[in-house]
Amino acid sequence: MKWEKCCTPKEEGGLGLKNVHHWNKALLGKYTACLSTKKDHLWVKWVNHVYMKGTEWQDYSPPLDCSWSWKKIVHVKDKFKHGWLRSKTGSVPWRFMCWNPLNVPKTTFILWEAQQNRLLTLDKLIKMGMGQDSICFICGLEPETHSHLFYNCNFSKQCMQLLQAKLHIHFSAETMVHWFFKNRSKSALQKIVTAACFVGVTYAI
Ligand SMILES: [Zn+2]
Repeated sequence: MKWEKCCTPKEEGGLGLKNVHHWNKALLGKYTACLSTKKDHLWVKWVNHVYMKGTEWQDYSPPLDCSWSWKKIVHVKDKFKHGWLRSKTGSVPWRFMCWNPLNVPKTTFILWEAQQNRLLTLDKLIKMGMGQDSICFICGLEPETHSHLFYNCNFSKQCMQLLQAKLHIHFSAETMVHWFFKNRSKSALQKIVTAACFVGVTYAI
């Protein structure tokens, strides 16, 4: 999994880890905001006196012999000036299952990988030159892919049907998200308990 994906917000399908490069730029951006708004701050006054000398911050370019840190602050200012912002990719519908507070953390991580087709199923291992046969170990009928393992394998189907019967609910893989978002006959607690059970079964499979 790409590090960039891990640093994407949880609602957009990432792990919500802090990207230290972006974090650093955001902190430097605070300095540029102070200079742009001409805050009544000792550091701003000092920078104006030593470096800028009356030049407008938006048009300022650093001298060649200035410090590395000052060049970086000016560089960040120029980047922000040209629209240097992260574009949002939209929220993923499975976020409520993945980041359910009742999930056991290890089950959350497996679900997160499964939703992005990143688990090392047999079809992937063969592409990596590991193993000869991609037929599903459980049913022995079809190649083990993500869609087969979690949705089409007879064993997975039976597990999900059994769980639905126990919880007195009914939905398919296609209508699951709709059930959680639109169903008004179940309370929020019933929904997060149901979601945690499904995530647990996905992990067990
Ligand atoms: Zn199977």
